[in-house]
Amino acid sequence: MGGTFDPIHYGHLLAAEEARINLGIDRLIFVPTGDPPYKRAQKIASAEDRYAMTLLATAGVTEYSVSRIEIDRTEETHTVDTLQEFIKSGINPEDLYFITGLDAMLSITSWYEFEKIPELCTLVTARRPGYSVRGIEKLPDFIKDKLKYIEIPQFAISSTEIRERIRNKRGIRFLVPHLVEIYIESNNLYLF
Ligand code: ATP
Ligand code: MG
Repeated sequence: MGGTFDPIHYGHLLAAEEARINLGIDRLIFVPTGDPPYKRAQKIASAEDRYAMTLLATAGVTEYSVSRIEIDRTEETHTVDTLQEFIKSGINPEDLYFITGLDAMLSITSWYEFEKIPELCTLVTARRPGYSVRGIEKLPDFIKDKLKYIEIPQFAISSTEIRERIRNKRGIRFLVPHLVEIYIESNNLYLF
């Protein structure tokens, strides 16, 4: 599962875990993005802070790990390159699933070399509050053919809202794992 994870929250964890259970995935890799050009203007936490929070959120769950693959890449990072690198490392495309929320999947046709993505993995997309599943109908057939849609308990939270709450001095307890909350506080993240 890729994401900016700025910061990681229970919406991400719930979507990832539901996908894992639904599809019988045995290893779940969280892939925080490097410095995505399209988010640069609003990006607040460094890649290292986002990576650290993702580690804290997933620590202790045997099936979970966090990859530095996009953070350590100096060039622009794209999902297609990351999938290709996982395949190069020995993972069979039939065994590779890319998990997103519905909002992300509905924008797939704007991703770099998106035409190649369905050959590299199965796409899994989880319902997300505020986005209609009917949007999937409009995606090209070659994407729909490799797409699995899953219904999950709806958790209407985003990283944007969490950052806003922190700026407005509202609490974020129960929206992110406790250790992530402590990390944000101790490092004075998202205050301005
Ligand atoms: P931002 O508000 O900064 O865009 P975000 O909450 O959307 O943050 P991202 O890091 O952009 O988080 O998303 C990573 C992935 O997690 C995307 O595929 C997104 O669709 C999915 N996702 C995020 N929040 C939820 C949620 N509440 N329910 C289901 N999927 C989610
Ligand atoms: Mg988002």
